[in-house]
Amino acid sequence: MTLASLTQSRLLTTAIPGPRSIALHAEREKQVTSGFGVALPIFIDRAEGAILEDVDGNRIIDFASGIAVTSVGASNPKVQAHVSEQLARFTHTCFMVTEYDSFTAVCRWLNEHTPGDFEKRTALFSTGAEAIENAVKVARSATGRQRVLVFDDAYHGRSLLTMAMTAKENPYKLNFGPFPAEVIRAPFAAPLRWPTGAHNATADALAALERILEENGPETFAAMVVEPIQGEGGFIVPSPGFLPGLRDIATKYGIVLVLDEIQAGMGRTGALFASNDENIAGDITVTAKALAGGLPLSAITGRIELMNAVHAGGLGGTYAGNPLACAAALGVFEAFEDGSLIENALRIETTARGILEPLRSTTGIVADVRGRGAMLAVEFADAGTLVPRADLAKAIADLCHRSGLLVLVCGTFSNVLRLLPPLVIDQDLLEDGLILLRDVISQVSEAVDIEQLETVAT
Ligand SMILES: *Cc1c(COP(=O)(O)O)cnc(C)c1O
Repeated sequence: MTLASLTQSRLLTTAIPGPRSIALHAEREKQVTSGFGVALPIFIDRAEGAILEDVDGNRIIDFASGIAVTSVGASNPKVQAHVSEQLARFTHTCFMVTEYDSFTAVCRWLNEHTPGDFEKRTALFSTGAEAIENAVKVARSATGRQRVLVFDDAYHGRSLLTMAMTAKENPYKLNFGPFPAEVIRAPFAAPLRWPTGAHNATADALAALERILEENGPETFAAMVVEPIQGEGGFIVPSPGFLPGLRDIATKYGIVLVLDEIQAGMGRTGALFASNDENIAGDITVTAKALAGGLPLSAITGRIELMNAVHAGGLGGTYAGNPLACAAALGVFEAFEDGSLIENALRIETTARGILEPLRSTTGIVADVRGRGAMLAVEFADAGTLVPRADLAKAIADLCHRSGLLVLVCGTFSNVLRLLPPLVIDQDLLEDGLILLRDVISQVSEAVDIEQLETVAT
């Protein structure tokens, strides 16, 4: 059955959330754990391109892509074709029981396309956290060492080991300990608030890292795990030279450099992988999120001598590299073939910067507009002091939601609005969303100014 295509424009038929969504949400609250949060409590009926249509008939612009997952669009025809064909043949065998070739084909594509001019092998799993855990398992097995180095503001998942590797306590870790030991954290070269100024961030952060390694013994570290652009922590682009510096330090001490490209990879930043930007390669590159266009699939791709160091049978999982997910990934790879999605990511950045960057000088609340390609963020803080303003990020996100634009908040201080549109978004729709966002930010900033004037006056 093929559905008529979904018009790529914003449409409000009710208030957001509408009556049907409100009723469904009330039922959800009776059945579903309250441990899951929700950014916007609307129920989706259909999605295509960069439009989410809810059960009340509202058409919402999608600047979230299900957290950087549906980069090729929420119902990409290439993904659909591969998955439908696979669905008709079989849904599961378990790759550890009997084999199927799409698993190998996904591994081949990743071996050929991830950074690093060396022979590689790949292992497939289902979730990002599972892949990160397996990268640590491989690094430990190959080096005979135990420690894992991670960074401030890092996010690596919600399983026990990856919670320990994630920086932020609330909501990710609160009351969930004790955590696995041997995880040690170092500063990330985040330019905006670097105490001695942005131009010192790389040198200072690398010096701090050398000191931490020296204190703990560099020979005790199996892996150093880093996001080339941080995701949940606030879409922080490290200052130039930091990632190459990590590469050098990891090589010097024989530490396995694991690049967590789960959010930034697969074309999101205007290159297939964010680490392409500074020409570095991880010894292991981790992919997930956009890898299979919404079906659960993750991977670790690394040097053959690391990936084959694990004893036979040491890696796996019932659903690891599920056939439907592998088929979806092959559809995603096809969608990337002609280069247009990468071009789109760059067009999205140019358009967004043109519309949003002036807000830094026209409002007193935008501390930064940053990111690369279609992984962009606006950070809200008080002018001068840079005191983070989570209240403004939340107010702006709420107003956008009510007007039919889905945006997400992130950041250790919850004061960053992140933009993750599908790479297939039409130019008109993109501009509609960005202008709406710009106007909402201006409106909130004027209200803040009036508030400040009133405080001064009293
Ligand atoms: C989402 C994410 C993860 C965890 O992936 P899950 O599939 O949610 O387990 C790990 N690292 C980064 C950078 C992520 O954005």
